[in-house]
Amino acid sequence: MDFAHSPKARRFIERVAAFMADHVVPAEAEHRRQLKTGALPWNQPPVMEELKAKAKAAGLWNLFLPDEEHGAGLSNVDYAPLAELTGRSFIAPEVFNCNAPDTGNMEVLVQYGSPEQKERWLAPLLEGRIRSAFCMTEPEVASSDATNMRATAIVEGDEIVLNGRKWWSTGIGHPHCRFVIFMGLTDAQAHKHRRHSMVIVPLDAPGLVIERMLPVFGALHEPHGHGEVSFTNVRVPLANVIAGPGRGFEIAQGRLGPGRIHHCMRAIGVAERAFELMCQRALSRTAFGKPLAHLGGNGDIIANARMAIDQARLLTLKAAWMMDHVGVKGAMSEISQIKVVAPSVAQMVVDQAIQMHGGAGVCDDLPLTELFAAARVLRLADGPDEVHRALVAKLALKPYAAAMDASR
Ligand SMILES: Cc1cc2nc3c(=O)[nH]c(=O)nc-3n(C[C@H](O)[C@H](O)[C@H](O)COP(=O)(O)OP(=O)(O)OC[C@H]3O[C@@H](n4cnc5c(N)ncnc54)[C@H](O)[C@@H]3O)c2cc1C
Repeated sequence: MDFAHSPKARRFIERVAAFMADHVVPAEAEHRRQLKTGALPWNQPPVMEELKAKAKAAGLWNLFLPDEEHGAGLSNVDYAPLAELTGRSFIAPEVFNCNAPDTGNMEVLVQYGSPEQKERWLAPLLEGRIRSAFCMTEPEVASSDATNMRATAIVEGDEIVLNGRKWWSTGIGHPHCRFVIFMGLTDAQAHKHRRHSMVIVPLDAPGLVIERMLPVFGALHEPHGHGEVSFTNVRVPLANVIAGPGRGFEIAQGRLGPGRIHHCMRAIGVAERAFELMCQRALSRTAFGKPLAHLGGNGDIIANARMAIDQARLLTLKAAWMMDHVGVKGAMSEISQIKVVAPSVAQMVVDQAIQMHGGAGVCDDLPLTELFAAARVLRLADGPDEVHRALVAKLALKPYAAAMDASR
């Protein structure tokens, strides 16, 4: 077993780490300032476009995409340390054109898109000229079960008509967002995995209304945001259906595999940044005559956080390795395992870092509250912990159930 990164990954790690230190982290404050003082509340800070241009020129672009033609051609294992680095900063994923949900939407279009869909929607996404959203979750139904989706996508001649309400559509507030991928019920009588379709809907389609932007712990996450969106008799050409009617569930499953593990890789970055801040604080602040690091159980807290992050990273890399070697289907247990472990570890470490900072930990001067929210919501987004645990248990029990059946 070789724990070293490949030479290709090492070269990218060096370049991404240097780019983060030289350009991204120093620009975070300016990005925030431009967002808060821009002419529009949902403007694109000019500094983001400058950073994107620099990253593109440096060849640090679309790193997430294993496809050689459109992306960097990196395996999941090679991409993992790069996603971890970008997870350390809120602005970094977009800088490298590696931000959700565009990454998932690009993967879907690379894998299932028609030549026309690729030309019209994929090409500008790959270039970072536009942004997109993914509209699956609905307020009215338990959306952790993708077969529950109730919004409709009904074929009428050479058009498809969409009705329903979606929410938590991340990225829909971005001023560059131009389309969404909508998941809707096409044939309620079909097999439960063949009922839904994925449809490309231009953001300016008549009948599509962003009803409101949803706050996360009070923050709107501008300029991306998360929208509640109504679709009332929205008509788009049948050619906008991805891979044809009835393939929605299959596409959703394929889309969520890489997306989930990217989230986990970034969650390790969240944990590492919080850990770094915690250690610096523990050494630099003195109370009762000693640095915080040497008071009470703080040494144990630091040691436990170090061990938990390293365990989570190893499991993330194993899941990535499985995806590379046996595909998303064969790696289902590992993907679900890490989807439970990585956000929980990140949440725990950020919480401890907040505690070690005292009052400063919950003030916006530090990124800890944002890091906490990012880790916490990840325990819901792309499937709540319980759903992933249920899958891990089902797969773990399978061989024992089969053995019991055989012995009967
Ligand atoms: C910040 C954020 C961004 C998001 N971005 C997007 C996006 O871009 N596009 C999109 O479509 N969606 C997005 N989502 C939605 C997210 O994927 C859903 O919230 C999630 O899948 C859960 O669906 P639900 O909210 O309907 O919860 P429900 O399905 O109602 O589940 C509620 C709770 O029930 C429990 N539960 C459910 N199933 C089980 C089970 N099998 N066993 C035990 N307990 C169970 C769990 O505790 C779960 O948290 C986002 C969510 C957040 C918070």
